[in-house]
Amino acid sequence: MRRPVPSADADPVPSHPGGVELLAAREALVAGTAVRRALPRRGRRTVGAWCFADHFGPAPVSPDAPVAIGPHPHTGLQTVTWLLEGEQRHRDSLGSDQVIRPGQLNLMTAGAGIAHSEEDPDGREGRIHGMQLWVAQPEATRWGVPAFEHHRELPRAEVDHGTATVLVGAFDGATSPARRDTDHVGIELALQPGTSVLPLDPTYEHAVIVAGGDATIGAHVVTPGSLAYLVPGADELVVTSSTPTLALLVGGVPFDEDVVMWWNFVARSRDEVTDAYRGWAQGDERFGAVHSGLGRAAVAPPPWLRSA
Ligand code: MN
Repeated sequence: MRRPVPSADADPVPSHPGGVELLAAREALVAGTAVRRALPRRGRRTVGAWCFADHFGPAPVSPDAPVAIGPHPHTGLQTVTWLLEGEQRHRDSLGSDQVIRPGQLNLMTAGAGIAHSEEDPDGREGRIHGMQLWVAQPEATRWGVPAFEHHRELPRAEVDHGTATVLVGAFDGATSPARRDTDHVGIELALQPGTSVLPLDPTYEHAVIVAGGDATIGAHVVTPGSLAYLVPGADELVVTSSTPTLALLVGGVPFDEDVVMWWNFVARSRDEVTDAYRGWAQGDERFGAVHSGLGRAAVAPPPWLRSA
């Protein structure tokens, strides 16, 4: 028996060759502010070594309602802070004190342990809009010493209808100076209306997170609050925007270590998390001290330590 001929309109828009999965972000609260958490999601814990992605704002800030995330610890990850609007002040237990502005990269490597605060520069009035992402450190570096980098200037590549800024890794011949412990990439896409064809490393899986505007990939329309996951195997991404759009393209070689995440810790087992939790609660030197006027963050024990 002959198979029916597929109708011409069965798949009107060609899909990304390898397949696309659209995931809704979930709403979460960070220091009282609503964020869209695109990673981790059930069924999609990592994209390359990227293991966490929060999109915050645009939201008003003022001296009465500042960004005020007091000193808190991290282990086993890099924080990537990327602002689209406003300013934020980073202070950490290495003594770093750095204001980040749009177009700059704030990259903190926790290794065995670090603490930092995220604050408004004094008396700031305006809006804050940006993303914070985490990259899981591999076994080779996750017990290493903490570090901090700030990059004011980053390489850019012109793409069809827009500009790509290379936060980390390489894209279209442009390479970021930022430290990279795994094979991964992070790109800001500033796109004007139209269709852009972007080169991809086919050994990477990727995700597109939209901060403003829209990005159509195959049959999927990605807007703020969702993430498009792209399976490995494609050497280009065709993306169409109907309006000026800001998005992050992240990707990397699929991360093959099983990550256990709880609170601000990226680990490999509950025992490691328990050690980190107790270390912070007891004021262990492992995390150092942050020079900040804000109170030190406290958290209830992880669920497996709570008595029934
Ligand atoms: Mn943090």
